[in-house]
Amino acid sequence: MSDLPNFKFDLENAKGWSSAAGSARQHTVDEFPISTSFAAVSMRLQPGALRELHWHAIAAEWAYVISGRCRVTVIAPSGNAEIADFGPGDVWYFPKGHGHSIQGLGKQECHFLLVFDDGRFSEFGTFSITDWMSCTPPEVLGQDLSLPSEIVAKLPKKEVYIVQGEVPPEAPPAALNPNLEPSQLTHKFRLGAAPLMQFAGGTERLVSAQQFPISSTITGVLLTIKPGGLRELHWHPNADEWQYYIKGRSEIGVFGANGKYRQDEFGPGQVAFINRGFGHYIKQIGNEETQILVAFNSPDYQEISISAWLASNPPQLLADNFELDIGAIERFPRDGRFICPALS
Ligand code: MN
Ligand code: MN
Repeated sequence: MSDLPNFKFDLENAKGWSSAAGSARQHTVDEFPISTSFAAVSMRLQPGALRELHWHAIAAEWAYVISGRCRVTVIAPSGNAEIADFGPGDVWYFPKGHGHSIQGLGKQECHFLLVFDDGRFSEFGTFSITDWMSCTPPEVLGQDLSLPSEIVAKLPKKEVYIVQGEVPPEAPPAALNPNLEPSQLTHKFRLGAAPLMQFAGGTERLVSAQQFPISSTITGVLLTIKPGGLRELHWHPNADEWQYYIKGRSEIGVFGANGKYRQDEFGPGQVAFINRGFGHYIKQIGNEETQILVAFNSPDYQEISISAWLASNPPQLLADNFELDIGAIERFPRDGRFICPALS
């Protein structure tokens, strides 16, 4: 048995950007080299704080709201637009290049996870509107927006990134353009209200492109594992797996073929990354139920669990494979277990 590379990152203790209005902590391949297919940001916005208008050139943005509420504006190519409000359990997806903003609503901080489908992506190398405008000759901006030079002269001189604004009214106000074409595809999905799949040791809610058509590169899962429960040995044929620990703890063992294996423990604010096709299990540890946000870099969800795999073979084949007698094979499970309950 030999070791696999580190697959754990402490996102909430990462360095990042912070002000009275909000904060952002991230991992890219620079901080977390194994995660080539995902970068992520943990962002907090105070009520009224605005993550300014921006877009991402190389990655789509998938997000999950943990606490608080926020409002996003997003424009799609051809001018279709959407203004939508988000609360705990809600997911958004902005395809690569769609312009958007995020603003805190209500009376409490909004905390959300941003997941990008490219590990080279950096939130701090994004295309922000004030950064762009401050690089552009003022006379070009004046001509473009039909604005007098005294207004152009007051525009920010560098990227504002997150700026404290007014707390928006509860009902979304109309846009500057009164004749806006609504978006053809919604950017919002309520993962927390998706069907609950129940297993002996925990639960799962799922959002893939099947339920949320705009999400063409990412599938998300909200996984809970009861105390003592085990998300059984399995692998994903079509996707890398990224996990963020919302609450509780777990132990993960990853198998990378040819005797390569690594095991680690995870808790709140930490991230795990598991390569496509690598075998793994997730075992709940501690007294508290474990809740994990999971993202896969594929529009559809695929997994194969060891119990279902074994049960799909003739008993004698299994007896031959493991050099066991048929009596022992008869004790194996008859179908997939998915999340096993605690050992009694
Ligand atoms: Mn963004
Ligand atoms: Mn998995």
